[in-house]
This record gives sequence, structure tokens and C-alpha cells, in this order.
Amino acid sequence: MPAPDAVLASERELRFARRVMFPVASAVVVMTLAVVGLILWTADQQDRLSLDSERKLAVGALTARVGNVARQTLDYAEWDEAYRSLHERFDAGWARINVGPALHHSFGLDFSFVIAPDGTTRYAMRDGDTVDRRVDDELGAGIAELIMASRAAPITDPPRAGLVRTGDGLAVAAVAGVRRQDDAFALDGADRTLLVLAVRLDDEVLSTIGERFLLRDLRVLPEPSASRASVPLVLADGEVAAVLAWTPDEPGRELLRRVLPVLAVAVSLLGAFVAVVLTHSRRAAAEIAESEARARHMALHDPLTGLPNRLLLGDRIEHALASLRRQGGRLALLYLDLDGFKAVNDVLGHAIGDQLLREVSGRLAGVLRETDTVARLGGDEFAVLQTGIADATAAETLARRILAALAEPFTADGAIIPAGVSIGIAVAPEDGTTHDLLARRADVALYKAKETGRATYCFFETALDATLSLRRELEHDLRHALGGNQLEVHYQPQIDLRTGEMVGVEALLRWRHPTRGLIPPAQFVPLAEETGQIREIGTWVLGRACHDAARWPGLRVSVNIAAAQFRDRSLPETVRAALAEAGLAAGRLELELTESALFKNPEEAATILGALRALGVTLAMDDFGTGYSSLAQLHRLPFDTLKIDQAFIARVGEDRSSAAIVRAVLGMTRGLGVRAVAEGIESAAQLAFVAYEGCDLAQGFYLGWPMPAAEIGELVQTQQATDRGAWPVAAMPLPRIRAAAG
Ligand code: C2E
Ligand code: MG
Ligand code: MG
Repeated sequence: MPAPDAVLASERELRFARRVMFPVASAVVVMTLAVVGLILWTADQQDRLSLDSERKLAVGALTARVGNVARQTLDYAEWDEAYRSLHERFDAGWARINVGPALHHSFGLDFSFVIAPDGTTRYAMRDGDTVDRRVDDELGAGIAELIMASRAAPITDPPRAGLVRTGDGLAVAAVAGVRRQDDAFALDGADRTLLVLAVRLDDEVLSTIGERFLLRDLRVLPEPSASRASVPLVLADGEVAAVLAWTPDEPGRELLRRVLPVLAVAVSLLGAFVAVVLTHSRRAAAEIAESEARARHMALHDPLTGLPNRLLLGDRIEHALASLRRQGGRLALLYLDLDGFKAVNDVLGHAIGDQLLREVSGRLAGVLRETDTVARLGGDEFAVLQTGIADATAAETLARRILAALAEPFTADGAIIPAGVSIGIAVAPEDGTTHDLLARRADVALYKAKETGRATYCFFETALDATLSLRRELEHDLRHALGGNQLEVHYQPQIDLRTGEMVGVEALLRWRHPTRGLIPPAQFVPLAEETGQIREIGTWVLGRACHDAARWPGLRVSVNIAAAQFRDRSLPETVRAALAEAGLAAGRLELELTESALFKNPEEAATILGALRALGVTLAMDDFGTGYSSLAQLHRLPFDTLKIDQAFIARVGEDRSSAAIVRAVLGMTRGLGVRAVAEGIESAAQLAFVAYEGCDLAQGFYLGWPMPAAEIGELVQTQQATDRGAWPVAAMPLPRIRAAAG
């Protein structure tokens, strides 16, 4: 089978030939034929016209000749002396002198005869010699008719003239009655003496006529011939005796002889020109078609891996579903997401990431059947459309094969990269018969596979859908949360364990969803991080918190900064703007960062932290103890505050190690000169423990719930009015270490 590209190319050729080449070539041929035809027709027409006029000339020439002989005959017949010497009495001497050889020598007449009223020939001259011959011995057919006609007509009529036969050819003959000039005396026809003069139509005569009338090679021929033009020669008795023929002048043919070579050259030039134009336009058409094909390919394929893209996959799915509806059967849609791809990209760089994606697509293509489609949906997401399967086990088998193919680690640039994949599978028609539903359900299953633990596959189950639907819904609604004024900031008091005074508050974000009520940040902050909305929301929180804090003299406000916000280079500027806008002293703002935000790239983190600190704000390490931060790294970073995670505080009463950890951390903070905050204080015992262990600040439900700004405002006022802390710590004994130290 030829390659599909070759098939396409030859199809294109065919189409081009059909649409352009044949019409243009036929037009050129038809036009050429028309022009040649027209020229031939014109030439022929010209030849005909020329022949016509030559014929008229020939007939005219002959007629003139006949007229000539007739006139000469009349000259001699209408003559008083001739009447006396030939008719009244016949004088042979007079005849010889006056109508004899002299006529031949002077006027070229070949015959002359004097014929008595009884028809006998009285005198005869032939070729200049007086001969003893009768007229019908010399002139044959035709002369009898002329003589008869002459006798029948009145003597005053013009002579009778016409063609007659001689012994060896044709001659022009005229017959006239001999009479007196005065015309007073008319003779009866039977009594007339006749004078007959004739001239041969011999070559000499003919060539004279031909020269005069421009008829080439004029001849008398027994029959017409194809190569010569002719007019029939009719004798006086009506017999067609011969033809007068000549070589026709053919101006049309002459024209063709001159024009055709020029025309041939012009036609070949035109042909060459058309051929060049056609070749060029075919090449141009091919180029256009090629670039179209390229554009189509680009529109439907992923440029990095060359795999079909989402669009093409969608198209194939629609087709497969359509044939499913007609013919039954099953298909599976597998959604794939590489495990840990983001880490590869972040740590090893995009070049390696791209290489990994290409490698993965190669391996995927290797395990598929020809009828299956693997597509790259974007990022590290792939999808496989498996058609014509009997049941879900076929999809399961394929999923296993894919897992196995990707289980082998990849090597790139000498680095060994473990790459697994999670797969979600939806099967039609069980899980849906529309592209949309199948895609969503494969995605839900993929989500589950990722949750379950990576490098595994999951089939879609109805129960899964609800969880994911909620997530999707929130993701959607979150877009309108900020604009719709649904976000609020609550504040949780932070108490100085030495004085019992509220010295700070932590700003905690709340989403008042129109139908779902108050949604805690743990449910939507990660979503906002994933969708990228966290920067916008975070900026808003910063502004809000600075604005509120400006009304609470002496109170420090802590604002949580998400990892994505932290990586944003414009964060210092955002912070500076928020402070300036609210008119809040930088020293009263604290930014809380989690370890995960910091330790992806410690050097860069140190730079940003430096920039933030240069603004005058303080920095807090949030949820300390939950990540992997090493103390060694920690002391190199410029933190002012360390917040001990509430998980440790929650267990201090229950297990010894938690208490030991809290104690150790507090010892370290003292060593580093860093302020310590105990998070999640829910009981008096916890409070007492951390206070006793020398913690600086505490925060928790036991001391105060996160509350709206207005309530914090009231607390601030009360605190100022009473001039003492309202919190239970005030009644407690001062921490031992503090007491010892202070
Ligand atoms: P976090 O920064 O560690 O905040 C403390 C969380 O502990 C708050 O949860 C608070 O309500 C809760 N808490 C306070 N006292 C107690 C207690 O005695 N017992 C228990 N069990 N919990 C207590 P919340 O408000 O649900 O916030 C959860 C997390 O969401 C925060 O943890 C913080 O990481 C994040 N968050 C909150 N607001 C924002 C924000 O504006 N921006 C960013 N990026 N993250 C925020
Ligand atoms: Mg916090
Ligand atoms: Mg915390």
C-alpha cells in the first residue's frame, strides 16, 4: 500500500489535472484550431474568388476574340467593291487579292471562304495559301449551323460567330452576308454570298490572350483536369468540344504558404508558454495544498509530541460514538496523568520535561493497536481512545500494559527519572454515550486513581462523581467569589503569654458561599492555588487586613501567604502598595509562610525573604513541624516568628514525645532569638503548658475564635479601657524560665 502522503499527492495531481490542466489545454487547442480553421477558410475563400474572376476573364477573353473575328468579317462583307466582285459576279483574282492570303499575313486570320448563294465554296484560303477546298472540308462541326443562322437572319444583323472544329483543333469563326454599305438593297438569305473568316485557337493565339488577361499557361484541353482551372468550350452546334484551361492563380494558397510557418511558430510558443504557466501554477497549487495540509496537521496535533490533540481526539470520539450508536459495541476512554511530572519540570528544567513527554508518547504509541488513538491533552495529560472492545477487561488490559510500559524509569541527560502514570477509565455505553460525559467521568476516575496512590488505574464509579462535581462546582463559583463580595477576612487573637494582652491577630480568609454557607479556607484555598486565582485573592486579603489593622492601634496583623503568591516576583511590591494604601506601619504586618513555599528553592526563597524584610515587615514560619524543614536551613532564613503547628499542641497532654518536641522547639527559638507562637490552644492545660515552657504567644479557640473585624475592634477598645489583658493568662503564674531569666 502506498504511503498516505503519496496517495494524497497523486489525488491532488488528479484534481489539478481535472480542474485546471484539461480545461486550459483544451481551450488552447480549440483556440488554435479555430484560428487555423479561420485562416484555411479565408485562404480557400480567396482562392474561390480569384478563380471566379479568372473564369470571368477567360470567358470574356474568348468572347472578345469571337467579337474580334466577327468585326473583321463584317468589315470585309459590308463593302461595295466586295459586293460587286464576289456577289454580282465572282472575280477570283479580286478574291485572292482582297480576302485571300493578305488576311493571314496582315491580320493573322487562318481561314477565309467565299460561299455562293447555292452553298458552293467559290474561294478558300488556309494559312495564307489559296486552296481548292470546300468550307466544310476545313471547318467541321459548327460551321454549318453558323451558315444556316446567318442566312436565316436579316442581312443587316451582325455576323454569326462561334467556335468550330478544324482538322486539328478549334477555331473562332464568323459568317456574314456580303452586302453594300448603303444598306438600301437587301438580299434574301437564299441569295446571299457569304464571307467566312476564322482564326485557329492555337498555342500562339492562346498565349497572346493569356498574356493580355493574365491567365497563366492558357491551353485548350480535351477534358478538365484537377490541377487546372477551366471553362467549357461550346461549339456553335452546342457540342462541348473541349475546355479552355489555365493554371489558376491561388492567392489563398500562397498566403497559407507564407502564414502557416509563422503560425506554427506562434502556436508552439503559445504551447510552451501555457505549459510553463501550468507547471508553475501546479507547483503553486501543490505548495498551497501542502501548507494547508501542514496547517491542518498543526491544528490537530500537539507540536511537542506529534500526537493528536484534544480537538482531533474529540473528533475521533464523536465518530466512534456515532458508530457505536449504529452498530453497538463498546469503547473505552482512558485519561492519563503522569505522576510527579511537575517535580521533574521544576527540578530538572523544561527541556528534560519535554524530553520525558516525548519519550512517554513514544512508549504509549508502542502499546496501542492501530485503531486506538493516543492524544496529548496538554501538560502531562494524555488520553487514549480504545475502540471495538468487547468489555471493560480489554480496557483494563490496556491500562496494565500502559502502566508496565511507563514503569521503566526514563533516562535523560544521564539522570534516571522514575515516571509513573495514573489512569482513569470510562467505558461507553455504560458510563455515558456522549463525549462530554465520558470525558468528565474518565477525569473523575483519574482523580480517584491519583488519590488512591499513584501508578494505578481506576474505573469510573457513580459515587465518585459527587465528590468531583462538588470540587468542580466550587472551582467554578470561586471565580465569582471576589467580584461578588462573598469573601471576608476574620481575625483570630494572638495573646502575649506574659501579660495576657492581645498583641496581634491572624487574618483568616472566609468564603460566604450564596448557597453553601461559610466555606473554610482549607476547602477552597488549594483550589484557588491550582487555578491561579490565589494571587488576586491574596492581594485582596493583604489590602483588607492592612486596612482593618490600621484602626487597631498597637496590634500586629499576620497574613497567610500561599506558595504561589510567594513565588510571584511582584509580591514585595504588592505588600508595599497594600501598606501604603492603608497607611499601616510596615512593622505591624507579619507575613506567614509555610515550609513548602520556602524549601523548593532555598536560595531564591532567601532573596525574596530579604526583599520583604527590607520593607520592614516581619516574617513568620507557619505550621512548623509539619514539613521537612531542617533547623540548619531555618536559621539561615531571616524569620522573626515561628508558629508551632497545632498538631503538636493538641497532643501535649496525651503523649510525651509531643511535649518533648514542643519543649525542644521552644528551646531552639530562644537560642535563635525568634518569637514563638503556639497554635491551636484549646484548653487551659495546653495554655498552661506552653506558657510554662516559655512560649511567647498563643493562639487558639480557648483564647478566641476567628471573628469579624468589628468584634476585634470592640476587644481592642475594652483592652484599652481596662488597661489590662482580658485573657486567662493574666491570672497564671509567670513561666518559670521567664521568671528565672527576668
Ligand atoms: P493556619 O495559617 O495554620 O491557620 C490556623 C488555622 O487553625 C485556622 O484555620 C484557624 O481557624 C485554626 N484554629 C485556630 N485555633 C484553633 C484551635 O484551637 N483548634 C483547632 N483545631 N484549630 C484552630 P482556618 O481558618 O480554617 O484556616 C486554615 C488554613 O488556611 C490556615 O492555616 C492557612 O494556612 C490557610 N489560610 C487561611 N486564610 C488564608 C489566607 O488568607 N491566605 C492563604 N494563603 N491561606 C490562608
Ligand atoms: Mg497561618
Ligand atoms: Mg498554622
